[in-house]
Amino acid sequence: MGGAEKMKKVVFFTDLSLLKEAVESLGFSSFADSDVLVKLHMGEVKNKYFPKPDYVKQHIDLLHSIDAKPFLYDTTVLYKSPRHYKIGYQKVARLHGFTKKKVGCDVVIDDNGVPVEIEGETYEVGKHLHESTHILSLAHVKGHNATGMGGAIKNFGMGGVTKETKKWLHHGSKPAYKKDECTYCGVCAEVCPFDAIKVNESDWKRSKQSCFGCGVCVDNCEFNALDYQRYDLQYTLACAAKACVQDKNVLYINEIKRISKNCDCDPFSGPIICPDIGYVASTDMVAADTASLDLINNVKPDVFKKTHHVDPEKQIKYGEKIGLGSTEYQLISI
Ligand code: SF4
Ligand code: SF4
Repeated sequence: MGGAEKMKKVVFFTDLSLLKEAVESLGFSSFADSDVLVKLHMGEVKNKYFPKPDYVKQHIDLLHSIDAKPFLYDTTVLYKSPRHYKIGYQKVARLHGFTKKKVGCDVVIDDNGVPVEIEGETYEVGKHLHESTHILSLAHVKGHNATGMGGAIKNFGMGGVTKETKKWLHHGSKPAYKKDECTYCGVCAEVCPFDAIKVNESDWKRSKQSCFGCGVCVDNCEFNALDYQRYDLQYTLACAAKACVQDKNVLYINEIKRISKNCDCDPFSGPIICPDIGYVASTDMVAADTASLDLINNVKPDVFKKTHHVDPEKQIKYGEKIGLGSTEYQLISI
């Protein structure tokens, strides 16, 4: 651990009336007079736990108060959903209350992107995100069946890239099977969230149609019989996040409330698996997610790991390794 001066500042608050104080202590005035992209997930159809328009509006009002010009932003999704298309996502956003009248700014959805190279691989970052220099991240912290948790890293690593890159991230994490090592213990089949693996005493099969490339089976095989086809999803997630934000002025606010089992991409993401905790704000993505996870683990030890059989800390550690941010932080409660 380094000295306090090396630690990233993470401001923790539970009362939203302290939002202004929190962001002002983190250099919010640097957003004055600028176009500000506000990155968030506006929720899958029928999902109940995505960030709410009233909450988002408080950030938009603050940005307007310093003459910034904010707009809400997300990208189209890979899976079958109205949000697969720009026009469909715009409709879902309106249905969920993200309208200029309610929130006070436009909603921009990207379907195409710009290639950015990180650690020798290319990630397509959403066009508007790539062009933006000032970014406010409003991540909702919750569980996730492929990455254990979704926070700020996931808000960008999956949410900031194009469908082509989303597909590449998932495909790389599908299992490569080594028959000679397999004991047919069946653990991979038990933990697969998509029921894609069938195992009996002498046979192992994976359905290519059902496999979503979450990598959970690889993480749980104790006999080294499975490996990622290309990369651990949590590694490429961190790399893709870096492609979205490097060299930009970004403020991260994690909402640690409505902590559901699954992510906002899931129509039925419940139940709630941890009581509400509050909010953290930081200029460091890794510090914001580390603090969020620590706060959750203090209340419900290892809740994401136990729920999803995957360690959410991996994305954080990978993020630190590739220079996305720091796991060393100083928590300042206000
Ligand atoms: S967990 Fe590993 S050893 Fe067990 S059945 Fe699956 S691949 Fe084989
Ligand atoms: S990668 Fe995920 S979805 Fe595919 S077989 Fe493994 S656990 Fe199942």
